[in-house]
Amino acid sequence: MIIQYNIGASEAEIEAVRTRLREWGLRVQFNPGTRAESPEAQIPVDNVFGVVTDAHRHEVAAMDCVRTVIPIEGVPQNLSLVRRGHRHTVTIPNPHGSGPVTIGAGRPLAVMAGVCAVDREYTLASHQMAKRAGADLNRGGAYKPRTSPYDFQGLKEDGLKLLCDVRAEVGLPVVTECLDVRDVDLFMKYDVDVLQTGTRNAQNFELLIEVGRTGKPVLYKRGFSNSIEESLKAANYVMEQGNDNLIFCLRGVKGIGHSFRNQGDMDEIVSLSHRIDRPIVYDVSHSSGRKSAVAGIGNMAAAGGADGILLDVHVSPEHALVDGFQAIDDEAELTRMIATWRKLRELTQGGGAR
Ligand code: PEP
Ligand code: MN
Repeated sequence: MIIQYNIGASEAEIEAVRTRLREWGLRVQFNPGTRAESPEAQIPVDNVFGVVTDAHRHEVAAMDCVRTVIPIEGVPQNLSLVRRGHRHTVTIPNPHGSGPVTIGAGRPLAVMAGVCAVDREYTLASHQMAKRAGADLNRGGAYKPRTSPYDFQGLKEDGLKLLCDVRAEVGLPVVTECLDVRDVDLFMKYDVDVLQTGTRNAQNFELLIEVGRTGKPVLYKRGFSNSIEESLKAANYVMEQGNDNLIFCLRGVKGIGHSFRNQGDMDEIVSLSHRIDRPIVYDVSHSSGRKSAVAGIGNMAAAGGADGILLDVHVSPEHALVDGFQAIDDEAELTRMIATWRKLRELTQGGGAR
């Protein structure tokens, strides 16, 4: 719940409410966003986290210094748009590259493009191509979650090292998937910029807790068999670790008869942009699984309000170790695509060009 106090309520009165909340085992956080940016700037506001019952709400509402109690329904409070009243951004610091990248409300579309799986021969050229075409981040998997144990599993630590060596040359921050709690320290050793959690780990709560604890930006991918509510609750495990740097990624779901690799879920961009304050990314490659669909689906995602688009690219798709069939390889086409997506975002959401 959110508590709005009366204008002029004293610190002592507010502290008395907070003490009561803590006695109930609830966590209280002053809401800086509301004080700094809402038109009702003088109203003190607290976010209250934990298991809030009707009895709690009634008791708080009856206290003298309390103006309103707002229950939060559906969306976990950490992600809720109601919490701060406006949509937020996440900044990726990029200490190894050419300046930070900010994704989210009021910012130009952020493009995350790179190889599906890091390889020795083509990752550098692919990531350089993505940068020339206008990408802001490079994506690339060193650990690959594969349906069959006989499929290529990723170069693992060698892949992480390679990805970071390439980063040193290209200058863009990197997004890469962490599959296992046992690897989190290694991701920190290489100072990965954004930790991705994949669709198959969408409810691996222990992993979500551990990546959350790093404090690094986390790209959380919706589970392909999870409802939106389930995915929001799972993503909240990351934020409950005190990590505000969550980016929510849609990537399609298992559907009932559709033309693509997955059933597109881009309508959720529109819904979520009214419900969560976190940046929303759409993965146009893993949702569609088709190279020829990437441009059009990206157009829809950008126009619909996605803050970022993620896609696979590869300079030599026939040599890609994973997912070459869906990778964009033509630099001119990629450049046009990214420019069009940015223009569509600008037209529909504002935010300007990068
Ligand atoms: C990926 O981004 O490489 C990936 C495996 O994605 P997902 O978890 O969405 O399938
Ligand atoms: Mn892939």
